Amino acid sequence: MSSGPYAALDPCVHCGFCLPACPTYLVTADEGHSPRGRIVLMRALERGEMSGHDAALVEYLDACLGCRGCEPVCPSGVGYGRGLEAAREQLLSQRGLSPLARSVLGVFRYRALWRSVFALARGLRATRLPSLLSGPGRMRFGMGMLAASAEMRERVEWSARQRGSGTAGHELGSRDDLAADQTRRPAAPPTVALFRGCVMDLLFSHVHAATRRTLEVNGYRVLDLPDQMCCGALHEHAGDRESARALASANVEALAGRADFVVVNSAGCGALLKDYGHLVGTPESSTLAASVRDVSELLAEKGPRPGAPLDIDVAYDAPCHLQHAQRVHEAPLAMLRAIPALRLQLLPGSDRCCGSAGIYSVLRPRMARKVLESKIADVEAASPRPDLVVTGNPGCIMQIGAGLRAAKLPVRVAHPVELLDLSYQNAGFYEVKGE
Ligand code: SF4
Ligand code: SF4
Repeated sequence: MSSGPYAALDPCVHCGFCLPACPTYLVTADEGHSPRGRIVLMRALERGEMSGHDAALVEYLDACLGCRGCEPVCPSGVGYGRGLEAAREQLLSQRGLSPLARSVLGVFRYRALWRSVFALARGLRATRLPSLLSGPGRMRFGMGMLAASAEMRERVEWSARQRGSGTAGHELGSRDDLAADQTRRPAAPPTVALFRGCVMDLLFSHVHAATRRTLEVNGYRVLDLPDQMCCGALHEHAGDRESARALASANVEALAGRADFVVVNSAGCGALLKDYGHLVGTPESSTLAASVRDVSELLAEKGPRPGAPLDIDVAYDAPCHLQHAQRVHEAPLAMLRAIPALRLQLLPGSDRCCGSAGIYSVLRPRMARKVLESKIADVEAASPRPDLVVTGNPGCIMQIGAGLRAAKLPVRVAHPVELLDLSYQNAGFYEVKGE
């Protein structure tokens, strides 16, 4: 038994129920790549019987996606994520970061750096070369990831078709309706600070815009607050808690006490923001963490208001950090069900990671691609074949989107809030220009 940071692993009785839920075990059938095997290794690390200089231990623990798919299936309530957090911090202190991990994490540490990198990526994306060059090889897969970050732009035709057919005879959505609703709202609507993040801020600014518009239709006042940083989740997952804490503290400073809620539309960022109390350890950080909501939670709380019909087949794939870390299951589905005519299915295997896992797909591309294969097979096998896969996390959108392109499947990926936004645009709640 342990009283330290590994205590969350204490309840493990080595039953193995978690093995079939672990993506890396499923692709390797190797006990060392399973939660149970990794817990044994973490215990050995804790006791000093193994160290960060043991190649096998490092390989097995590094190969963990941190998806926490093993937690909800564990009958003993093992807190695998907390154990992994402790192990990775200990490993980092013993062997440091690899040069690649150090450079990638270094970029996300400084706003000017990640803004420059993502501005360049945006410029490249605007040339449409990534879309043309996307494919199965490593470079082409990277291009596919970049192309997948802007799927809505490439669905203009599809969107126009929906607009032409969707609103006829639909009773909802006139501007008068909206104005009437607004007059019925309480004088002071709840305020929401939008968490901008890093990759979301530059490559997914269209999702931020959709978040803002859909929340406003549902009676929230959305605030844009300056001086925000990357959330720190990538650093936290790598064991670099010092950097994660510094970034989190800056965000607490920027956001605390300024709105009723902090809204996040990236599951990975949301999971860490909700854990800022544990990470930073101040009363302000705990209060801020308690006010954090995924965008789907805020919208589901208000219904949300229905929009115009979208006559499409959609498969929802739950991001690990929304379903396993934040334990948010129903809200995204409620949000999508508010869109009339939309046919919604839960993607088979939606409880399994897609292999994105922060910077995992950059650091361990082979395992990430193996894990992704079963996700793509699930999309291929889904009946009916979806027009769109929707998932509320940028890494998952890019990973699955690139995988679908590499497999030449005519299915695209979007954030769920983009669909509600499109439904609202078609209903005439607002017009969107220049996105
Ligand atoms: S983590 Fe839970 S499910 Fe997995 S072996 Fe331990 S007790 Fe069993
Ligand atoms: S976090 Fe994910 S990859 Fe790691 S042991 Fe658990 S299920 Fe497997």
